[in-house]
Amino acid sequence: MLLYRLCFITFVLMNESFLVYNEPVFRPPSEANSVILQITHGCKWNQCNFCEMYTSKSYSVKSLSTIKKEIILLSGMYPATKRVFIGDGDLFTVDYHTMLKAIKLIKEGFPALQRISTYASSRELMRFSPEQLNEIKATGLDLLYIGLESGDDAVLKLMNKGVSAEIQAKACIKAKAAGFRLSVMILNGLGGKQHTLNHALSSAALLNKIQPDILALLVISFPYGYEHFRARVNANFEPLSQLEMLKEMRLLLSKLELEQTVFRSDHASNYLVFKGGLNRDKDRFIKQLDHIIEHTIHVPSPHLNESKRL
Ligand code: SF4
Repeated sequence: MLLYRLCFITFVLMNESFLVYNEPVFRPPSEANSVILQITHGCKWNQCNFCEMYTSKSYSVKSLSTIKKEIILLSGMYPATKRVFIGDGDLFTVDYHTMLKAIKLIKEGFPALQRISTYASSRELMRFSPEQLNEIKATGLDLLYIGLESGDDAVLKLMNKGVSAEIQAKACIKAKAAGFRLSVMILNGLGGKQHTLNHALSSAALLNKIQPDILALLVISFPYGYEHFRARVNANFEPLSQLEMLKEMRLLLSKLELEQTVFRSDHASNYLVFKGGLNRDKDRFIKQLDHIIEHTIHVPSPHLNESKRL
């Protein structure tokens, strides 16, 4: 998951009590107007080679008493809250009963609430039975953001995602059957030059199986520099140029057979902003991509600064 870090002062003053966020805090772009409540800190897995989101902090779960106190503080500040986003990395690492109690507390604390969302991983979703997932959905959790990253097992292995494409498909289909809405992410360029073809084809195949409600296509980035990333993958990874990224994006889009998916490439990492429905707008997206690819004479490397150091 490559997502937005929140850049605001992360404490709330209320009745001489402070709510201090454990930084860094991330949320998807579409949660910009949501109240953020951290039930966990960090990422329990924290081993994906492309991800630096939570490498600076340790994983922990808050106590229900702390969660309750923070909900009281936040609901006092924002009584008309319609959306709550639960952080940090993966709510489904929390045990089932604690999760249910926490969601109930959120529902009680924000009477005008319309949506509760969170990050989730395929690996942890698989721990839950269909009945448990039904109950969690019925209690109020609605939207899950799942970083699939790729549908290609070689890329998932290279990136140490800790899960196969088959497990990702099973987990997502299971979550959908329980009624969750799914917003999934694929990372453009994640396989580098070596895996670009299979990354695009296998990711499209995975998405076609899942039929997500929302698909966000993000672009791999190297926040700590390309050398740092290369050391993490410990492999001969060659990053795609912008033009190659666009070609990979085109191939992925061309292979998608989605019935009713909202598509977005509007993250800070994207070069091209597309928003629309798939397959409804697929031909339009591809025509635009063809035009751009055809008329591109020179596209600077997306990682120019890093490339200079190679
Ligand atoms: S599971 Fe998500 S948050 Fe955790 S390391 Fe992987 S990409 Fe990052």
